[in-house]
Amino acid sequence: MPSDLPGYEQAAFLVQQHARAIAQRVRPPIETVDLASAAGRVLASSLRADDDQPPFPRSTRDGYACRAAEISSHVLLPIAGSTHAGQPPAGPLPQASVWEIMTGAPVPGGADCVVMLEHVQKFENAIQFAPARTIAAGDNIVAQAAQARRGDELLQSGVQLGPAQIALAASCGYAELQVYRRPRVAILTTGDELVAINATPGPGKIRNSNAPMLAALVAKSGAEPIVLPIAADTAQALDEALTQAAHADMLLISGGVSAGKYDLVEPALSRIGASFHFTGVKIQPGKPLVFGELPRSGEPPSTQVFFGLPGNPISSAATFLLFASPILAALAGSNEVHPRFVLAQLARDTDRKAMSGLTRFLPAFCTFTSSVNALPQVATVPWHGSGDLTAFAHSNCFLVIPEEAAHLEAGSTVRILLH
Ligand code: AMP
Ligand code: MG
Repeated sequence: MPSDLPGYEQAAFLVQQHARAIAQRVRPPIETVDLASAAGRVLASSLRADDDQPPFPRSTRDGYACRAAEISSHVLLPIAGSTHAGQPPAGPLPQASVWEIMTGAPVPGGADCVVMLEHVQKFENAIQFAPARTIAAGDNIVAQAAQARRGDELLQSGVQLGPAQIALAASCGYAELQVYRRPRVAILTTGDELVAINATPGPGKIRNSNAPMLAALVAKSGAEPIVLPIAADTAQALDEALTQAAHADMLLISGGVSAGKYDLVEPALSRIGASFHFTGVKIQPGKPLVFGELPRSGEPPSTQVFFGLPGNPISSAATFLLFASPILAALAGSNEVHPRFVLAQLARDTDRKAMSGLTRFLPAFCTFTSSVNALPQVATVPWHGSGDLTAFAHSNCFLVIPEEAAHLEAGSTVRILLH
């Protein structure tokens, strides 16, 4: 292994730098989508409050709107009126009285708090605040515009839209949203051994499982996969295939990046002017990973980011998640360009042959529990190397084994990357 290969942290840092530069430079085209199909998309313009939020002082309880100073004397106060959710603001509240009110209803003018139904004693048409209770002005009311004023920017472009953002947009009357067009990702699988999924592999052949796997990963990252035909391990086949990929926003090449005699991808990329940011990372699986950019004509001239992913399926998936996915997020216009490592607890002792200087990402299964006190439990799945698709299919994450750590103890806190 060349000693000058970057370690995981260094490679991740490089990728982050490129992701940030892309985020600065690239403004993806904008399109309009219905709110109902906006989940997972990246917002391309500010989302603004069409009105104050809330648009009226809102009660957060069922109870009685009143003045804190008056109710705190614990004397019997008459009920002057009633408002339920959906009724227009009523009032004003007369002196020395209370106003029956329901959750979500506008609080009448003059009231400064809401006492909870459960905290009063009700008589015919009057109430008395329970002796032991206290209340202050503002309690159980969300003041008009407490969350936002009309015209305020509530979300910036670059935010990825999930259920919460969609709800906020709906509350402001957005039936459609402006989002960035999904980046288009060309997927080029290479290898003389590969046959189509619906073919019966002859001797020495295998089905092309990376194309649909990478397409699924790309789609899950919010981008659009374009699967190109399989390229044979010849210079000519690769040259032809690369021209077909030229229009995509990103290029993923699987296979052909190791040191073997038929690993012809790097020379093919060089022939069309590639610059390489790295050609290997001290990780396992995935060490031969290649990252770089191809020149692109046009005004202004730009580049096409490419990743040469090692052909072994688990290596391809791990390197995609660790390195390609952050770049893809930047190309999608998203502000969030980091892989999401989370903590888990190791379910059993885990011994690994020491692999000096390599950060490892082992297929593992993470079990979530319904307890709010427990970390998810994670254990590696038995595997026969990075081509073991059965093991991979029985995993739901990668367990991070830091450099030099050959033994991790059951119960210790570890990092995982969900897939
Ligand atoms: P390579 O990176 O081309 O040296 O391939 C490494 C290993 O991954 C070999 O065992 C290949 O047969 C396998 N492989 C390469 N491409 C694919 C693919 N598209 N689908 C499944 N396995 C693959
Ligand atoms: Mg190959």
